[in-house]
Parts: sequence; C-alpha cells; structure tokens
Amino acid sequence: MNKKEQLYEGKAKKVFATENPELYIVEYKDDATAFNGLKKGTISGKGVINNRMTNMLMQMLEKKGIPTHFVEEISDRETVVKKVSIVPLEVIIRNISAGSFAKNYGVKEGIVFEQPTIEFSYKNDDLGDPLINQYHAIALKLATPEEIETIKKYAFAINEVLKEYFKALNIDLVDFKLEFGKQSDGKIVLADEISPDTCRFWDSTTKEKLDKDRFRRDLGGVEDAYQEVMRRLMGE
Ligand code: ADP
Ligand code: UDP
Repeated sequence: MNKKEQLYEGKAKKVFATENPELYIVEYKDDATAFNGLKKGTISGKGVINNRMTNMLMQMLEKKGIPTHFVEEISDRETVVKKVSIVPLEVIIRNISAGSFAKNYGVKEGIVFEQPTIEFSYKNDDLGDPLINQYHAIALKLATPEEIETIKKYAFAINEVLKEYFKALNIDLVDFKLEFGKQSDGKIVLADEISPDTCRFWDSTTKEKLDKDRFRRDLGGVEDAYQEVMRRLMGE
C-alpha cells in the first residue's frame, strides 16, 4: 500500500489517499498543540508511540466486538485505515474529575465518579469545539438519533474495556476523547486515535500524570511519560 496525495494535515497527523478508494494512510507526527492550537511544541518520538499504541488498543477493542477503522500498521508512524466520514463530535468519557470538568464545575481533580460521564463537543476549530448535547447534535444534523445511540453504546463499552486493561498496568484511565466515523455502507466505527494525546492516564499508586497534561501544564518529563505508558503496554 502506497501513499498518494496528501488530503489533510492536522495538528497531530497527516492523512493520505491510497490506490484503494476505500482506504487512507494516516501518518503520526511529533507535533503537539494544546488550547485549540495556542500552545505549540514537539514531543520527540510521540508519533511512533501514538501510532503503535492506537493500533494495539484498536486491535484489542476489535476482539471485544467494537468495530474500528484499523486495517494495517505499515511503518512505525504510518497505518492504513478505512476511509470514513468523521462524525464531527468529540466524544468524551470521564471516570475521574480532571481538566475542563474540574474547572467548569468548580471541583477538585481526582474525584472518582460512581458512574462514567459522557459529553460531546462539536468538532469545529473555528468555534473552539463548543460543548453540545445530543439533541443539539441531532438538530445540527451532525448525526442521526440512531447513530448517537450507537456512538454512546460503543463509547461506554470502550471505557469498560480500556479501564480494566489499564488498571492491570497500574494506570487509572481518568478521561479520554473518541471520534467515530461512518463507512460508505453507513456503519459506525471507532476512528482517529487512542493515545496519551487523547487520554488522561494517572499512575494508580503515585497519581503521577502520564499523558499530554505534562505538555499542557509544563510539568516536564513529557517524552518519558509517553514512553512509560508504552513500556507498560508492551509488558516490559
Ligand atoms: P486535527 O484535525 O484535530 O488537527 P489530527 O492531526 O489528528 O487532528 O488529524 C487527523 C484527522 O483525520 C482528524 O481530523 C480526524 O478526524 C481524521 N480522521 C481520523 N481517522 C480517520 C479516518 N479513518 N477517515 C477519515 N478521517 C479520519
Ligand atoms: N481531549 C482531546 N482533544 C480535545 C479535547 C480533549 O483529546 O480537543 C481529551 C483530553 O486529552 C482529555 C479528555 O479529552 O483526556 C477531556 O479533556 P477536557 O475536556 O478536560 O479538556 P482540556 O483539559 O484538554 O481542556
């Protein structure tokens, strides 16, 4: 499978066409941004880690019955994925208070919820990815009511699988963002990535942050944190 023209360059990945009209190649970059692109930097080796981690987790989720866009890893930064039309929603699941939840609702970080929460942001950089509810998403025709139900079902199921998986690695899955896409046959699948860029991971014992918050908050040790999560995933 070869890359043809570049279709898109985002903040963390590039997307290329291939000779197969149903497939894309995504290439993971080391570029990092935060606060809707206001903070920019590089996290050395991040692209390799996020590519491998996403692919490992997506293959694991497939085995648990969650359909994903994953097709084949072709290099340390490149993966063949199914071409989908991305549902323009950032689907955020939270198990523990942190980030914008703590800020918006005036609570401290680290409160363990009795049950996970779900929220949607409208994926629109010009508007700053505003928070919306499922009725807004339907009104805006971002997804149908049936698609929203499928997305919610998958998102909570993914949370249960990932929470358990990371717990065994002594990592608390605090919160994370998912994106879903629609195949040409209408089927909804998990797309984009699952990585320390899109999840909050805390060491279960020390509560040390092992994710992009180290970059967002200038905590140092960013590369080491990404490597540490990867190391545990690889069973080293
Ligand atoms: P952003 O667009 O937020 O800067 P990225 O740099 O990660 O994000 O760019 C990757 C883009 O590719 C995202 O817009 C994402 O929604 C999109 N994408 C991810 N998986 C697929 C897929 N299977 N088919 C089409 N687009 C995808
Ligand atoms: N997230 C993401 N992309 C975004 C916004 C959030 O991957 O554009 C992830 C973020 O890494 C965290 C979760 O979604 O794991 C919840 O983020 P939050 O709403 O707390 O936002 P933030 O603190 O980043 O403003």
